[in-house]
Amino acid sequence: MDFGIWDDSIQEHPEQKKRFASALTSKVIPISVDKTSQTGVFNGSGKKPYNTSLSDCTCMDFTRRHLPCKHIYRLAVELGLIDTSAFGVAKGAYGTDDRTLKDRIKAYINTLGEGDAHILADYFYEFRNRYDHKLMRKDKVPGVVLSCEVFEDSGNLALKLTKLKKPELIELFVDTDLKVKQLSKPELIDLAMTTSGIDFSTVSDLVVDLQAKEMYKPVLNALHLYVHKLYPRGIDYDFLF
Ligand SMILES: [Zn+2]
Repeated sequence: MDFGIWDDSIQEHPEQKKRFASALTSKVIPISVDKTSQTGVFNGSGKKPYNTSLSDCTCMDFTRRHLPCKHIYRLAVELGLIDTSAFGVAKGAYGTDDRTLKDRIKAYINTLGEGDAHILADYFYEFRNRYDHKLMRKDKVPGVVLSCEVFEDSGNLALKLTKLKKPELIELFVDTDLKVKQLSKPELIDLAMTTSGIDFSTVSDLVVDLQAKEMYKPVLNALHLYVHKLYPRGIDYDFLF
């Protein structure tokens, strides 16, 4: 019962089954469903209705967990993407290779505290659903992410130079005779890329173009879920259901 960005392994979790059961009740009937864009609008507990797609919902539950909420499930049912009788049937969603990869990262997650694990889970989520890659100052990237083998630097030097500050760009020319102080940032980048003998080794200490390794992309959702199983975020379920 894969739908949207979610795979079967997520649906096996008791918390997800609870949400799916909730989704089928009359309280969760959509105000509207757009079959073309596969989106829906649901009444919320407050004044503002929730905007829901198969991968996203504006409700509190989804905002906190980044896992399918009852609205997402209901939308999938309304769109005919879920055979409601099939829910709960576990089937192996992963081949052996995926399982090995997952186990390796799970072992890494097990060494982390709750805070770091959740930081990592958020990165798993973002790089599954939002970013192909993300250009960042390295000091803004949590250590737990930098040392996780799921992620790597794309190595796109020209792109990474755009994230350097001007004095850092000028510093690249320190061993050349070029007069560069008057140049603009784009000019400095062009010149750096076309001048031979520039030592770019410091760039990787300052900037990273972060991406998830291709082989890990299919298991990012499962890893995200694993963290949430290990360290459930405190949610008042009576309030939500
Ligand atoms: Zn929702």
